[in-house]
Amino acid sequence: MYKFFMTLLIPCTIFASEVEFTKWNSGESFLNFLENHKLPQKLYYNLDKDEQTITEEIYAGVNVQILRDANNTVEQVLIPVSSELQLHLYKDKEDETYKFESIPIIYAKKQEAFSVSIENSPYYDIIKSTGSKKLAHQFVNAFKNSLNFRRDLQKGDRLVMVYEQKYRWGEPFSMPDLQVAMIEMNKKKHYIYLHTDKRYYDEKGIEAEGFMLNRPVKNARLSSGFTPRRYHPILKKYRAHLGVDYAARPGTPIMAAGGGRVIYAGYNRGYGNLIKIQHSDGYMTLYAHQKAFRKGIKRGKYVKKGEVIGYVGTTGLSTGPHLHFGLYKNGQPQNPARVIRITTNKLQGNNLQAFNTLKEEYNKMIELHLAAKTQAVCEAEFEKVYYLDPQTFQPLARGEEQNAQI
Ligand SMILES: [Zn+2]
Repeated sequence: MYKFFMTLLIPCTIFASEVEFTKWNSGESFLNFLENHKLPQKLYYNLDKDEQTITEEIYAGVNVQILRDANNTVEQVLIPVSSELQLHLYKDKEDETYKFESIPIIYAKKQEAFSVSIENSPYYDIIKSTGSKKLAHQFVNAFKNSLNFRRDLQKGDRLVMVYEQKYRWGEPFSMPDLQVAMIEMNKKKHYIYLHTDKRYYDEKGIEAEGFMLNRPVKNARLSSGFTPRRYHPILKKYRAHLGVDYAARPGTPIMAAGGGRVIYAGYNRGYGNLIKIQHSDGYMTLYAHQKAFRKGIKRGKYVKKGEVIGYVGTTGLSTGPHLHFGLYKNGQPQNPARVIRITTNKLQGNNLQAFNTLKEEYNKMIELHLAAKTQAVCEAEFEKVYYLDPQTFQPLARGEEQNAQI
């Protein structure tokens, strides 16, 4: 039978402005972006060094939001640079000029959990149950150094994972943060817990992190730490420093913090002579402002942990000789200090006591999910704000944007 459906054309934009969602292209620079959207180049040139450098952190594939008026002129742009901070370009209503500011990303955070009975493998069964490769990968990775699933797991063994997921515009955003993982094998339960120091420990309080880095420079002073976002009270601006700075004499050798493949060795406007090394498990390290690279270091080359790759300098947007060292996991900036260590950490004293209290809370949660035998989601914190009011630039709650005169 022949059916004819008439499509009703409902106007989707009842307001004058339109929001466009676009992805940041690989290799696109901030200056390219301004040019492509007919925005003034001085939006970049008027920035200070720190702000110019942060524009180098925009990662390929990130969702960019552009708001245009009826004449197709850009009114606002939001570009995330990390899971915490975004760049906001906007046309000032007072003087009709474009302005730049760094503002926090407002996201909702949910604590979620699930339990799975093993049919095939933890990786396969987690994907089957949750649809998320990220969760499956995180779970398997958490036990990579301590357990052998292939040898010891049996059908019907159970696992539970509790994690925190960020949401932006109602969609999962950034990587889930594993809080506790448990797997029962041969009737014995094995755990990995996230402690308040943001490191992972087993049930005895022994650090379980598998990925460890060496310090990339010897005899250097840590001159600036990692800050995913911080409000500068004097400048009245949000700032971020997505790496650590080691002040050292020019020419001091820089060593690969871990073994891996050089994926970038070249010049970058903000970071000067720059090397990026890809490691296992989605980790990448970045070495900026170098005076020169060591001979033979180029894209595609494999380097060993501790191998000299270049020399400390002050190239790019830098105020003095130092190494800016960055660590990324799946494109997200991480605090390098968290994974630079020589010996494995074992919790002691008050710290161990605090850990044990936290552990008890987590264990109760695990038992609840084991008993429920179903996927469950518990909301711990939920604050959903996702758009900026075009007049006031204040965040609007989801749904409220309907009422805003955009
Ligand atoms: Zn730096």
